[in-house]
Amino acid sequence: MKIRKGDQVLIIKGKDRGKKGKVLRGFPKEMKVLVEGVNIKKKHRRPTRAGEKGQIVEVPAPIYVSNVKLICPKCGKPTRVGYKVTEKAKYRICKKCGEEI
Ligand SMILES: [Zn+2]
Repeated sequence: MKIRKGDQVLIIKGKDRGKKGKVLRGFPKEMKVLVEGVNIKKKHRRPTRAGEKGQIVEVPAPIYVSNVKLICPKCGKPTRVGYKVTEKAKYRICKKCGEEI
């Protein structure tokens, strides 16, 4: 996957379009990522102990990688990710500024 944990991303589709956040987790099999503060779902939690009230907790749900764009840490712009392959390794590069990311 082109997006990794710890990346800053911009949401380009859906109700959270325009929001920015940090990738908390990647799900390569589903091609989804969990982004901090994005795609918040409300979950109702039942009381676990007597006398406790049920609560509504807000948890982020994963979204498709195709709905986010990586924000380049070097130039700060939302960008597509390219790859540079050398004999030793494969690097991700920013398509805007060409820097390694
Ligand atoms: Zn860049």
